[in-house]
Amino acid sequence: MKETAMTRFLDANDVAALVRGIGVQHAIMQMADYVRQDFLRWNAFEKSARLASHSPVGVIELMPVTDGVQYAFKYVNGHPRNALHALPTVMACGVLAEVRTGFPLLLADLTLATALRTAATSALAARAMTQAGAQGARTMALIGNGAQAEFQSLAFHALLGVREIRAYDIDPEATARLVRNLASVPGLTIMPTTSVQQALAGAQIVTTVTADKTRATILTPEMIAPGMHLNAVGGDCPGKTELHVDILRGARIVVEYAPQSRIEGEIQQLPDAPVSELWEVLSGAAPGRVDANEVTIFDSVGFALEDYSALRWLHAAAHARHAGRHIELVAMPPDPRDLYGWMMTPDVPAASVQTAAVLEA
Ligand code: NAD
Repeated sequence: MKETAMTRFLDANDVAALVRGIGVQHAIMQMADYVRQDFLRWNAFEKSARLASHSPVGVIELMPVTDGVQYAFKYVNGHPRNALHALPTVMACGVLAEVRTGFPLLLADLTLATALRTAATSALAARAMTQAGAQGARTMALIGNGAQAEFQSLAFHALLGVREIRAYDIDPEATARLVRNLASVPGLTIMPTTSVQQALAGAQIVTTVTADKTRATILTPEMIAPGMHLNAVGGDCPGKTELHVDILRGARIVVEYAPQSRIEGEIQQLPDAPVSELWEVLSGAAPGRVDANEVTIFDSVGFALEDYSALRWLHAAAHARHAGRHIELVAMPPDPRDLYGWMMTPDVPAASVQTAAVLEA
């Protein structure tokens, strides 16, 4: 089928329907495959730390990446107090374009896809970092039960076989919502707890995914047992961390992209901390863990390559399921150099120009 020069557009409802149709756990597993494939092609990508614009209440970020064939960028914010305005803490959208022409192939909501790709990446990292230790981990503590929480829970259930989530949030209603939302997932129990300590009891994996624009110490050294794997997701900006610095000392730390993580991650607290990058661990170039007693930390901040994977996945899934619609996102004059003439002609139909539609092939 010939594609016209129109951009596929997936709004938030389109993405939600797509994910529901595929099944959330399936979608996370597919996303994990995409993320893994892309991290294994690490050297093919032109990478940069994201461009962040900070304000006292939050951050707005632009995240570009390209492999010379496709180009992707995400717009994303992080405003921990947005609930006061009835808005999510994290909202995102993004574009996937073909490098050959620069034509934007896909414009999509990435709020939901961000939750999916973050959870998929966390679980991929945990799987690689628990191989000599907490492998077979069945219990995860989940501190912070907001928008990301269900996705983190389902990713660890689907990819690592976690069966019990011990959930804690300073807002008990957040924990109650998580329990309600995942009540019917077979083989997964959400156990509400009333303190971080109680959540950690018996857990082999600890996920922190809280939102507060401060140097928080959600976890302190005396809470950490030998062999634990920490999946630290919520600290992702300068001045916004979740772990006491002493937890980092002596732990094995894996990050997505070191130049960005040194600015934004837990390791901003320990500038000389030795780290490996996730691609090294996934490819076997660096160990994720060397013994069962080691404390391992995935210091997640979210990297543009994960959003490239998310856009690539959305584009393929939407194509397969005919999701969303095609829009004239960019002007397409029949004579490409007569932008003015096109503008002055009312209701000119878009030119039926063929794009390479590389991804659709
Ligand atoms: P959210 O606002 O929906 O949820 C945050 C939850 O944390 C809330 O329920 C809040 O009550 C709870 N919380 C705050 N302080 C707490 C504390 N001290 N102890 C326990 N719970 C606490 O936010 P979200 O969308 O779930 O995102 C959570 C965090 O993850 C944010 O900081 C966000 O920036 C970050 N994030 C990171 C990535 C990544 O790739 N690393 C991706 C998405 C979001």
